[in-house]
Amino acid sequence: MTLDKSKIQQLEQLITSADTITLCTHASPDADTIGSALALQNVLLQLNKKVKIVCPNPIPDFLDWMPNIEQIIIHDYEGKAVQNAVVNCDLLFAMDFNAPHRTSNIEKSMIESNAKKVLIDHHLFPDEDYFDLMFSFPKKSSTSELLFEILSQSNYKKFINKDIATCIFVGLMTDTGSFAYSCDSPDTFETAAALIRYGVKVKETHDIVFNNNSIDRLRILGLGINERLRVFPDKKAAYISFRKEDIDSFGDKSGLTEGIVNYALSIKGICFAALLTEKDDKIKISFRSKKSFNVNEFARNNFEGGGHFNAAGGKSLLSLKDTELKLEKLISNFNI
Ligand code: 5GP
Ligand code: MN
Repeated sequence: MTLDKSKIQQLEQLITSADTITLCTHASPDADTIGSALALQNVLLQLNKKVKIVCPNPIPDFLDWMPNIEQIIIHDYEGKAVQNAVVNCDLLFAMDFNAPHRTSNIEKSMIESNAKKVLIDHHLFPDEDYFDLMFSFPKKSSTSELLFEILSQSNYKKFINKDIATCIFVGLMTDTGSFAYSCDSPDTFETAAALIRYGVKVKETHDIVFNNNSIDRLRILGLGINERLRVFPDKKAAYISFRKEDIDSFGDKSGLTEGIVNYALSIKGICFAALLTEKDDKIKISFRSKKSFNVNEFARNNFEGGGHFNAAGGKSLLSLKDTELKLEKLISNFNI
C-alpha cells in the first residue's frame, strides 16, 4: 500500500521538531500495541529523541522477552510518572487505539496534554477531533503492519533493524492469529517477507509467544471449556463466563485469559463467541465472530465498546448474572 507522501512528510516534520516524545498504548495491552510502540521507540531513539512508552496496565508475561519491554512505564504501578510523560511531552503517539478513552486511567492526561497528537491505528471510527495527524487504516491486519509501511516509505527506513522487525512481526502475527484471519491482503505477507529479510526468526518468535503458556493459563482454559462454557447451537452462539473467584484463584495476571474466546468460536457451527470476565468494577467482555456478523456494531450498541468487524470488546456495569441474562436475551434474537 502506498501512503500519502505529504502525510509522511508531516510526520517527519512533527518528529524533527519534537524533543520529548511519548508513545501511548491501550488498556489491557496486547502484542500489537506493545510491539508497534517498541518498534517506533527504537527508531526514535536512533534519532536521539527522548522517548517514553506508557501503558495503562501490566504487560502480559508472554511479552516479557521483547527488547526494552522493561522500560515501559505502567500507570497501575507508576501513575505520576505516566501522567508526567503524557502531559509534558512535545509529541504524543496513540499506538493501536482510536480514542483517548481506550487508555482508561491515562485518558485524563491525554486530554490535558498540549502535545501534538499522532494516531497510528487500524480500529474503526477514530476520534478525528483529538488528533493532529492520523494514520487510520481499519483494513490493515495490525497497527504493526501499518507502522512497517510508514517506516518503509519514510526517511526512517534506514533505521529498521532486527529488533524493530521482530517487534513488528509479533504484533502482526498475534493480531492475525498466526496469519489465519485479517490477512486476506497480499500486503500482509509481503510485510512478513520483508521482516524475515531483516532477520526475524519465525519459529523462534512463534514459540516464545505461543508455546510459552503458564500452567495457570492452561488450567483456566480447562475450567472455561469444562465448566463455564454455554452453547446455543441453533443461534450459532457460545460464550464463556469467568467469575471473579475463578480469576483470583489463578492470581489475576495480565494476559491470563487472552485468546480463550477463540476456543468458543472454534466450535463447529458457531459464528458468535463472547468471553465475560468479572472484574472489581465491571464485567469485561471480548467478542469474536465468523463471517458477516459485525461484533464491532454489536459491542457499540449493547456493551459500550467497539473494535473491529470480527473482533471487538466492551463492558457491562451490571452484575455478572445480569450481564449473562442480557447477553442471552440478545442471543435469543439472533438470526445468523
Ligand atoms: P479483546 O477482546 O482482545 O480485548 O479486544 C478485541 C478488539 O477490540 C481489540 O482490537 C481491542 O482493541 C478492541 N476493544 C476491546 N475492548 C474495547 C472497548 O471497550 N472499546 C473499543 N472501542 N474497542 C475495544
Ligand atoms: Mn491491533
